[in-house]
Amino acid sequence: MFASTLDTTIEFLKGVGPKRAELLQKELGIYTYDHLLNYYPFRYIDRTRFYKINELHAELPFVQVLGRITSKEQIGEKHKKRIVARLTDETGTIELVWFQSLKWVDEHIMRGKVYIVFGKPNAFNGSFSISHPDMGTYPRPATVTGNLRLQPVYNSTEKLKKFFLDSKGIQKLQALLIEQHLSEVRENIPPYILDKYQLVSKKEALLNIHFPKDIHTLKAAERRLKFEELFFIQLQMLHSKQLRELKFKGHQFERVGERLNTFYREILPFELTGAQKRVVKEIRLDTQRGIQMNRLVQGDVGSGKTAVALMSMLLANDNGYQACMMAPTEILARQHYESITSLLNGNLVNVGILTGSSTKKQRTILHQALEAGEIDILVGTHALIEDKVIFKNLGLVVIDEQHRFGVEQRAKLWRKNSIPPHILVMTATPIPRTLAMTLYGDLDVSVIDELPVGRKPIETKHLFEGQRLRMFGFMKQEIAKGRQVYVVYPLIKESEKLDLLHLEAGVEQMSYQFPRPDYQISIVHGKMSNADKQYEMEQFIAGKTQIMVATTVIEVGVNVPNASVMVIENAERFGLSQLHQLRGRVGRGAEQSFCILMSGDKLSKEGRLRLETMVKTNNGFEISEIDLQLRGPGDLTGTQQSGVMELKVADLAKDQLILQEARNTVIDILAADPHVDRPENSLLKTYLSRRNTGIAFDKIS
Ligand code: ADP
Ligand code: MG
Repeated sequence: MFASTLDTTIEFLKGVGPKRAELLQKELGIYTYDHLLNYYPFRYIDRTRFYKINELHAELPFVQVLGRITSKEQIGEKHKKRIVARLTDETGTIELVWFQSLKWVDEHIMRGKVYIVFGKPNAFNGSFSISHPDMGTYPRPATVTGNLRLQPVYNSTEKLKKFFLDSKGIQKLQALLIEQHLSEVRENIPPYILDKYQLVSKKEALLNIHFPKDIHTLKAAERRLKFEELFFIQLQMLHSKQLRELKFKGHQFERVGERLNTFYREILPFELTGAQKRVVKEIRLDTQRGIQMNRLVQGDVGSGKTAVALMSMLLANDNGYQACMMAPTEILARQHYESITSLLNGNLVNVGILTGSSTKKQRTILHQALEAGEIDILVGTHALIEDKVIFKNLGLVVIDEQHRFGVEQRAKLWRKNSIPPHILVMTATPIPRTLAMTLYGDLDVSVIDELPVGRKPIETKHLFEGQRLRMFGFMKQEIAKGRQVYVVYPLIKESEKLDLLHLEAGVEQMSYQFPRPDYQISIVHGKMSNADKQYEMEQFIAGKTQIMVATTVIEVGVNVPNASVMVIENAERFGLSQLHQLRGRVGRGAEQSFCILMSGDKLSKEGRLRLETMVKTNNGFEISEIDLQLRGPGDLTGTQQSGVMELKVADLAKDQLILQEARNTVIDILAADPHVDRPENSLLKTYLSRRNTGIAFDKIS
């Protein structure tokens, strides 16, 4: 690429200079003209709309009011010093309050003059006030930005504001930049794609994202920039997926043999659901093709992922390969081992287990057996991917609960064999399609969206604090039937100390309500040693305790079929996905199970909606969609760490259509031009070769 003026250090833009440049870098990551140009407003104020003072109400976001300053005075001492002014129109009066920049306000805001005032109205003693309003003179001066109907609002920080880089200050810089340098902006999407989707040019998009002429040009600019953002993510992911497929040949599982057939026809104690059958088939087709499979299987708790995993492993075995299954914790690994051996009923294949607590002697024997190919299926924890563990011929790796395994760990697995094994990732955290496409766009995704027939749906109830005795009564009733109960408390980093106190108080209350020796209580929280946790869990799993009081450490995968009640304390503080995960700990046995959501009496609108959703539905996909709408993608499913989620303009909750378009476009491009060699795709080739410096193009062709 040629150097461009847009790569000039921001310091040299008129009105910036070294000090502000340093702040822009530190606070907003803006180093160059180009970075600033791509720093978009986060919202716009509609300047065509003036509110009358008697129309104001507390729910309104920022509003614009036109009125006369009728009084202005400075009151308070020292840090309470402030200026309070009254603004009046023909319908009423509001207060304007400043705590900062008092000198400026004193000099520039004049009694008797008319102003255009922007701000968030706060209800206050039956009238309204606006703190630190944005003040404009009336009539508006006729400058470029002064005539804007949609006023851009940029995020700024306290430090930047001290140097006059508040939203307005940033806007001024943008105006200058656009005036002087917009012409140097280069298009980065091939014209034929712009045509096909009727997207505006990059220049037009940048101009209108900062200074929209009207709502239509703004929408067109947003659409173009969203498309661009999603398009390049998809391009990078699908392209690297394709490189991987071209570079690594996969084991070919050519046939369904004796073991899988016998298991399916004679041993499997139930009929597979339609969804299970479909996913097994998808896996079967994938592993036949001679490519290396990377597939994510999403399925709600209880949807029967284990059977699917086992059948896939038997398929590997039938073709002369070993398989392994990896779980995030020791307890889960052991549970998998048990469910697999019990599903197999001691037949067909040799199953081994390897965890952190396997003894040295056990390991030695196991290592030998593995290398000799005497073990067909190995179940375990991370210990499986240590270099010491050598398989004779590993063909398939199943990973349970994907979000604990990062891309790097997956990569480590790929290197485990000269031909990398197929990888099947299982997750019980359903995520919306848009998220899956963005987060796991380089994986193929299967969905088990059906529960086995005859499963009794968990009954969920929401109780307020005042109904606590009912909850205790219900627990007693269930325990009397021989059931076990989980009671879960939130434990959140920011309020950890207080949360631990709540947990302690809760435990005390429980011990009082459920005294020994009639009742036994286990306690598990994240601050305990692993050994202690393990011990307490085992007591509960073995049925020696009836109540398990815990923080969210029990969230992932634990299976105690006899536990039929899940009580969630302060349920309003949990996210929807987490509530759903917790609820999934019960309903695993034959008995009717229950989930009781305890909450305080006062609930936020969103908190109430979350609890109502839980009561209304058991469907994890439905819940994940609502969660995405409520919270946005950043918080979902513990995936914050993924850089992919830091989208600038696109919103995965809202832009599903654009995402689909972008993805389809990329799929078409790569199908028609796998090496991205055609002249019309040269812009894309440039982009990719800058991204994938590690993998040279010529190596694969
Ligand atoms: P997941 O891992 O998806 O949460 P599991 O694989 O542990 O679910 O399955 C939950 C329970 O349902 C197990 O007891 C399993 O044997 C049983 N199961 C799985 N598939 C079926 C089916 N098709 N019909 C009846 N029961 C099934
Ligand atoms: Mg499972």
